[in-house]
Amino acid sequence: MSDPGAGGTGPAARVVEASRALAAAGQQDLVWGHVAVRDPDGRGAWMKASGWGLDEVDAARVLLVGWEGERVAGEGQPHIESHIHLSVLRARPDVSASVHTHPEVVNAFSALDVPLQALSHDGVPFVHPQLPRSPLSGDLVADRARGDRLAAALASAPACLMPRHGLLAVGGDEAEAVMHAVLLTSACRVMLLAAAAGRVRSSSDAEEVAAKREHVWPRRQLDAGYRYLARQRSAPSR
Ligand SMILES: [Zn+2]
Repeated sequence: MSDPGAGGTGPAARVVEASRALAAAGQQDLVWGHVAVRDPDGRGAWMKASGWGLDEVDAARVLLVGWEGERVAGEGQPHIESHIHLSVLRARPDVSASVHTHPEVVNAFSALDVPLQALSHDGVPFVHPQLPRSPLSGDLVADRARGDRLAAALASAPACLMPRHGLLAVGGDEAEAVMHAVLLTSACRVMLLAAAAGRVRSSSDAEEVAAKREHVWPRRQLDAGYRYLARQRSAPSR
């Protein structure tokens, strides 16, 4: 009865909260997109079951997915793309949570195939150095081989663009991973707005980015943003 998935602060509860936070931030794509939390006992990743929207996740809709993509605990079926998270968690011991979503503005920006620039606070975590782009096709990441290639492309970055598909964002915990997904989406939206209006003439240089990383995005600010999103959660819609 010591399953760490049970209880209000266990990994299943953290998946529920993070899923609702992503939904509150507008990251949902019908029933697709997910957040994974590393199992504290090293058995795999806790994720929502396939078929539910981010805003519908409750503890009964969260699974423990083993390292081969199989269900270890919980009800329902694992997402086909659980290998995204499994490969990243294998490759990045510093990562305890990862997010994969399909925001329209991220796909629109990725299709331009131009570097991301920090035109607002939100782009700061992803430039100098420039965040990576997945070399994979836009098809599903449905097996370990594709997951491992995506994790290799991510390398040590906080997020990765997945052209013709979506984004991957990671963090030391779910608050950081969710905020990276939310900030990257906002940064892509601002890039699209600017590019639609004209030529981009002003963006943060490396010096300004370094200062803003320290002043705008210390850990407590990421937490403050995440706690706000988590407070927006509403009752499950059954
Ligand atoms: Zn996907």
